[in-house]
Amino acid sequence: MRLRNVPGSREDIANSEFVIQNPEKHRGEIVSLFPSKQPLFIEIGMGKGQFITTLAKNNPDINYIGIEKYSSVLVRAIEKQTELELPNLKFIRMDAENINDVFAENEVDGIYLNFSDPWPKDRHAKRRLTSRQFFARYEKLLKPEGKIQFKTDNSALFDFSLEEVEATNFKATEVSYDLHNSEWNEGNVMTEYEERFSAKGNPIKRVVFVRR
Ligand code: SAM
Repeated sequence: MRLRNVPGSREDIANSEFVIQNPEKHRGEIVSLFPSKQPLFIEIGMGKGQFITTLAKNNPDINYIGIEKYSSVLVRAIEKQTELELPNLKFIRMDAENINDVFAENEVDGIYLNFSDPWPKDRHAKRRLTSRQFFARYEKLLKPEGKIQFKTDNSALFDFSLEEVEATNFKATEVSYDLHNSEWNEGNVMTEYEERFSAKGNPIKRVVFVRR
């Protein structure tokens, strides 16, 4: 996913009105950066932003923040938003490891994780966005009724996530090993990776994590 040497990406991000600069300064009141006070959903590791941009377009009564570590892909999401100017969509460039510095307790209504990096080596397990360390971070910022929706084509990462959640205060619901041929596919919004991998014939897995 990481594109190298995208000219000007850092400058584009620093100057973009759609990117929340110094997001930790708005902790607990991030909604005030949007024109409307309404529920807030975030996508962590949004890449080029196709998924969250589509959701923001389809659901004007929800605010969205896309979080991405790398400028080189974030800049593609900014390009889309520069054309659309959706009032309910903003971005943050950050490593999600620091997400609790940016969002206060109960500040977020829902989390999307799409095709998260698998980090296949055991010693990197805690970097996976569905590791127990990340669930502990989500627990702090997510409202009690908030949900975490996770999609991937990666069987090992999916199985890891279903096992890992057992060690947390969340539980797995709506588990599907073939989302596109399941009852939960209606209204599904495809991500860039989802389009690519399902075109190759890979079944897409999906789970929704809720509090126990
Ligand atoms: N969600 C997109 C999709 O489904 O098309 C992109 C998937 S891509 C495999 C994973 C993305 O997550 C990459 O753009 C990567 O930079 C980002 N990412 C991975 N770990 C992250 C982290 N700790 N914080 C923020 N972004 C992260």
